Amino acid sequence: MNYLLKNSTILNLFPSEFKQFDVRISDEKIIETGKSLKQKSGEEIIDCSGKFIMPGLVNSHTHLYSALARGMSGPKKPPSNFLEILQKIWWKLDEALDEESVYYSGLVGAIEAIKYGTTTLIDHHASPNYISGSLGTLKNAMEEVGLRGILCYETTDRGGIQKRDEGLDENESFIIANQKNPFFRGMVGAHASFTLSEDSLKKLGELVQKYDNGIHIHVAEDKADVSDCLENYQKGLVDRLKDNGLLNSKSIYAHGVHLTRDEIKKIKKAKTWLIHNPRSNMNNRVGYAPLSLFGERTALGTDGFPADMFEEAKIGFFRNQESSHQTRFTRIAESLQTGNTIISEIFVEKFGVISKGNQADLVILDYKSPTPLSKENLLGHFIFGMNSSIVESVMVGGKWILWNKQVLGIDEEAVMVEAQKVAKRLWKRMAKNV
Ligand SMILES: [Zn+2]
Repeated sequence: MNYLLKNSTILNLFPSEFKQFDVRISDEKIIETGKSLKQKSGEEIIDCSGKFIMPGLVNSHTHLYSALARGMSGPKKPPSNFLEILQKIWWKLDEALDEESVYYSGLVGAIEAIKYGTTTLIDHHASPNYISGSLGTLKNAMEEVGLRGILCYETTDRGGIQKRDEGLDENESFIIANQKNPFFRGMVGAHASFTLSEDSLKKLGELVQKYDNGIHIHVAEDKADVSDCLENYQKGLVDRLKDNGLLNSKSIYAHGVHLTRDEIKKIKKAKTWLIHNPRSNMNNRVGYAPLSLFGERTALGTDGFPADMFEEAKIGFFRNQESSHQTRFTRIAESLQTGNTIISEIFVEKFGVISKGNQADLVILDYKSPTPLSKENLLGHFIFGMNSSIVESVMVGGKWILWNKQVLGIDEEAVMVEAQKVAKRLWKRMAKNV
């Protein structure tokens, strides 16, 4: 389908852009931009008067599998540290996941993402009792909504060698199956250094090399990851990953809360992506990531929270304001934009700017501003005024998937009714595991 978006105000958070021009879209791409473009045959005109168009947002580190955890009861004795949070909550949840609950987690998470204007999810999946085929199930759920995804399975030694190997195989099969998919790609996934032996890291390194890919892994999220590495391997986390071929420009390190200055330098030099997850770090009380030291290849993730990047950015901004690593005002917007740089490199296509030749992933915003809005004060509006309720319509790859706040082709109410039943069964299985 071809579209001509007329009378639109284009905005981009970073670098800040605020211009009026029309946008012509053919198939999956933006093919022309300019003033007063004329309608061509076969084109549908969308009048965007009074509305704003911005590029789709990217959630650069998340776990769709936690979508059905909302509201579940916590352990009888509350966890006292990060490891206990994993052991008592998240590892109980992931062990209870089956095909149906993985699918519904993906579907619910994808529906929410699109309503927040998030068009791509970089997911980190775990379901130790349903490993083989789990990434395909997640993909099917996301495809039903129309989102883009970069998926991987969290390889770990936690469940023994057989499950570790199943995790490695799941990553490899998904990478192979999606090498040319315009909407999905696979990465080599790994949980974290502290749940992986040298042999496992070596195997992950081999996969990364074999497919010229990157690893997606939690790094220094909590002090426990750092101390485990120093005690058991007599080296720092980044050196351990580097020695196994896992420090490269295609890799994604999530969190980096407890990285040293020297380690951050090594990450910057290798051009490895670092993902800041402010809400999750605060919730797990793991500490504040030294954002002022992170390099330009830093993006934002929600780490399992719903993919509302407006909310993540705001909370990230306010947390930074009171931190000892206070950084420039534009920093969070830069990080949000970097998500589009990540997917541009992975898909080898252009994302993140409304311009000719770029992929047509975009969001129409209905924002009624009570004060003047310009290129200069756009970020002020973003932090102190805008939120995801202004997302009106969303296009991914030239196709509308949210129109006037309705997810197209999906009976959202029916999905939520079914998801509640699936969540109830999931919580019951979890209770049995405790
Ligand atoms: Zn995570």
